Formats: sequence, C-alpha cells, structure tokens
Amino acid sequence: MKALILVDIQNDFIPGGALPVPEGDKIIPVVNNLLSHFDLVVATQDWHPRNHGSFASNHPGKKVYDVIDLNGLEQILWPDHCVQGSKGAEFVPTLNTNPVEAIFRKGTDPAIDSYSGFFDNGRKKSTGLADYLKGRGVDEVFVVGLAGEFCVNYTILDAAEQGFKTYLIKDATRPLNREQFEKAMQNMRQKGVVIIQSGDILKESDK
Ligand SMILES: [Zn+2]
Repeated sequence: MKALILVDIQNDFIPGGALPVPEGDKIIPVVNNLLSHFDLVVATQDWHPRNHGSFASNHPGKKVYDVIDLNGLEQILWPDHCVQGSKGAEFVPTLNTNPVEAIFRKGTDPAIDSYSGFFDNGRKKSTGLADYLKGRGVDEVFVVGLAGEFCVNYTILDAAEQGFKTYLIKDATRPLNREQFEKAMQNMRQKGVVIIQSGDILKESDK
C-alpha cells in the first residue's frame, strides 16, 4: 500500500508568499500528475499561531535567519508565515486537493517548531501521521513538497525511522538552498531512502 505525502504546499512557500521557496510553484503540475498513482494521499500543513516562537517578529532585537535557543532547541528565525487562517497558510489554489484524505497540521504550539509531518522538532508530540498511515495499511511512503531541506527532509527521515519504505520524488520538491539540500539527500540515502523522479512513478503505472 503506497501513500503520497504532500508536505506544506502552501501559498507562503511559493514565490509571492512570505517564505518563498525558489521555483516552489513549479512542483504543482508535477504533484497533480502523481496524485492518481497512489492508494492514499495525505497532506501536511504548517499552521502557526501569530505568537509562534519561530517568527523573528516575536523576538525583539532578532532578525530573520538568526539562530536562537527556543526552549532548549536550536531554532532558525523565519519571517511570519502560515499563520492560522491566513491566505498564506492555505494550500496553493492550483494544487488538486480533492484526493487528499487527511490533513495533518503542525507548528501549532507556540513554544516549539515542527518541520516534520510526524513529530515536533523536540520529538515530544506526534501529529498522529505514523499511526494513521499504519492503520491504513501503508508500508511505502512517497514524499513531495516544500521546502526540500527542511520540512520534506525531516518528514522523510521520520518516515524511514518509523519503518516505512521511504521515497523522495525529487522533481516534486524544491529547496531554499541547493547545497544544503544535496547534503540532506546524501544523508537520506544513508538512511535507506530511495530518491526517484516523478517519471519513474508514471512509467511504473503504465505497465
Ligand atoms: Zn513554519
């Protein structure tokens, strides 16, 4: 049973948004083409309260991209993004969300950030995603979305660690920083993650 996880395909993460990933919008048609090739599609959604600790604006004297200690964890400070109920937090309107069976919201606790769709960055709280996938009989997980070296990367590492056969569909993601993403992919491979292209899935289904 194969699941596709759409990570944070939200307005704030594409060009024009508050925390734009270069070419983030280019993944939308690629993702839309993939949807029908999976048994199950789920999505994660970054969903911060206004007072979230990852926002530079909530730390007087600090700037975006400064690194601080947030309740014992290293935290990069971001521009305000994906504020609950805002336009920026909505899924990109051209993304076909009809096949999405469940949405897992993350980053809702102001005291801790959550890059992975499975756990917060301190691994204290689970979103329930792993149990949901296991409950549905999923054994293979394919991950797409934004941004490659952050939320996609951490979602993938947790999926692999939770025992799922895990794949990154590389042309259905974009990073903030290409070099960091290359490093992240090297680490993924070492953890047994398989990196493929969307064409591999489309071809496979033609057989
Ligand atoms: Zn966030």
